[in-house]
Amino acid sequence: IKGGTFDQHFLIDAGYLDRIVAAAELSPQDTVLEIGAGIGNLTERLARRAKKVIAVELDPALVSVLHDRFDAAENIEIIAGDALKVDFPEFDKVVSNLPYSISSEITFKLLRHKFKLGVLMYQYEFAVRMVSPPGCKDYSRLTIDTCYFADASIVMKVPKGAFQPAPEVDSAVIKLIPRPAPFEVRDETFFLQFVAAVFSQRRKKLRNAILNTSSLLKIPDIKEIVSQLPEDFMNKRAEDLTPEELASVANMIFDLKSR
Ligand code: SAM
Repeated sequence: IKGGTFDQHFLIDAGYLDRIVAAAELSPQDTVLEIGAGIGNLTERLARRAKKVIAVELDPALVSVLHDRFDAAENIEIIAGDALKVDFPEFDKVVSNLPYSISSEITFKLLRHKFKLGVLMYQYEFAVRMVSPPGCKDYSRLTIDTCYFADASIVMKVPKGAFQPAPEVDSAVIKLIPRPAPFEVRDETFFLQFVAAVFSQRRKKLRNAILNTSSLLKIPDIKEIVSQLPEDFMNKRAEDLTPEELASVANMIFDLKSR
């Protein structure tokens, strides 16, 4: 099978496949969702440990490979379709070697569901941005959004050679544990828009970043509002503020604009 159109790089190294499955700490009670099951190498290993595996795959050629391979298996359900569009049934864990072109969109779709644990493979640089601490060059909108929804950590780096065909980039496996945000957010939609807006101007001081993007955030009397926000935050760049500090600024703006 030739990879390309659908981001197809199959993980063939048994050592890495086993380590991904081990990181999911599966029990016989777990229902596991897998996005982009490919030829089913991970699917088969997951099904040996879990109660059930729900495998989503977009490419019709691979969907028929999966049917040939697993129709006799009682605990594997195959869903043919685009993981961004299908409704996910309930699941306890999600374990996937993701198609990297949909990394961000699929991650935040998943995080809108209730589940216990995710073990997900991403392009290495993307994984680093998910877990970067404040002040680092990789600290970004993605870091804040991730930390708003879940605890994230890198389990391991996976080299190109573990895949067939080999991709052009290295990969990393992330462990995600969804939990309520560790800081107060008055309005989720506004907070996420605010983070996107100020990180689109990450080199500017927060004051200027906010004034520049106030139209995006639909804030009419923004100059007046900014003058009431704490000076020490306004003089820093978004990338130098912790997620908690950014949330507190977003909350203050939200309260002032709602008056
Ligand atoms: N899990 C397999 C493995 O580890 O060998 C394959 C991983 S490969 C990186 C990504 C898989 O996702 C491919 O099989 C591809 O066809 C599938 N895919 C790509 N876009 C998709 C989408 N939007 N929804 C569901 N599957 C998709």
